[in-house]
Amino acid sequence: MKAKEILKTMKPYKPGKGIEGVKKEYGLDRIVKLASNENPYGFSPKVQEELPSLIQKLEIYPDGYAAAIRNKVAQFIDVSEEQLIFGNGSDEVVQIICRTFLEPGANTVMATPTFPQYRHNALIEGAEVREVPLVDGHHDLDEMVNQVDDKTRVLWICTPNNPTGVHIDKASLRSVLDRCPDHVLVVIDEAYYEYLEAEDAFDALGALEEHPNLVVLRTFSKAYGLAGLRIGYGVAHPDVINLLEPAREPFNTSTVAQAAAIIALDDQSFIHESVQKNKENKEQLMKFFDENGISYYDTQANFVLVHLPISGDEMFEHLLTKGFIVRSGEALGLPNTIRLTIGKEEDMKVIQEEMKDRIVSGVN
Ligand SMILES: *Cc1c(COP(=O)(O)O)cnc(C)c1O
Repeated sequence: MKAKEILKTMKPYKPGKGIEGVKKEYGLDRIVKLASNENPYGFSPKVQEELPSLIQKLEIYPDGYAAAIRNKVAQFIDVSEEQLIFGNGSDEVVQIICRTFLEPGANTVMATPTFPQYRHNALIEGAEVREVPLVDGHHDLDEMVNQVDDKTRVLWICTPNNPTGVHIDKASLRSVLDRCPDHVLVVIDEAYYEYLEAEDAFDALGALEEHPNLVVLRTFSKAYGLAGLRIGYGVAHPDVINLLEPAREPFNTSTVAQAAAIIALDDQSFIHESVQKNKENKEQLMKFFDENGISYYDTQANFVLVHLPISGDEMFEHLLTKGFIVRSGEALGLPNTIRLTIGKEEDMKVIQEEMKDRIVSGVN
């Protein structure tokens, strides 16, 4: 058998240590997962209430057009239904974009480190990946535009960026869109959109009319708390959607995910509460970092990238023994950092003490 050459150089996604495994290994009753930027408050109680009624007709294939959630999202974000494409998480929309636009001989431009799925899927399609290092946690947008040539098909922008949490201001984004040639699809991944409250935030959806080469990605996995159901979407000009649709599997979002997403969208008070609590806990965490001389990136998301005087792996191991699963930055090429999802107030208090013990007192 012969697989694509490139796959030999790639690793399968390595899932974090399972919660049950960690509990057993360290004799803990409770594990707090702060590694994947999930919503610590769960998901809308309205979805929970309605769930039994959503689990029906499972013998029937889902609506491949996702008509009901399509209509709902179109109204909610004020675009036309023809401007939407749904995916099994926005991860899948990333994959569909790569399947549609990338191939050997083509190239794609992105920051590094950023969300790893852009690179992963681009490589599988055989495209050249041009990675432009972040500067101080920020996309180096000038250099990214510099890297664009006539073979460039897709330029990826993640704002707020995963893993740094830093957002890109509107003047900078407008300038990228103005400078990027029409043959390049610009993807703005807004997975953390709901948490973004900066005054200079860019209205990416508002830019769609003027820039038909733009795709905006959103997801129900983060603030909406539905990561386990897998549903996200892309918004673009109908012509772009028409290019993408043939590369989409016909029944890629499940009946339950489509129905749950509708109810979740209707419960904006759950989102507001989650965002508000995230903000309070984030401010408290920053205060702790400031007081202890720990530096961090100014995040606009529900996670923070923290600089440590020790290696990220060491801190990861230490926190693991205390029941906290975080993400070490070492593998991302960010030495002496961890990425920490901002969790519940009581858990953040404990993790702060544990971090302090390890750093200030050198406790093992
Ligand atoms: C989590 C995340 C996604 C993917 O979310 P899905 O669960 O696949 O919708 C996409 N982009 C970024 C930047 C993310 O952090």
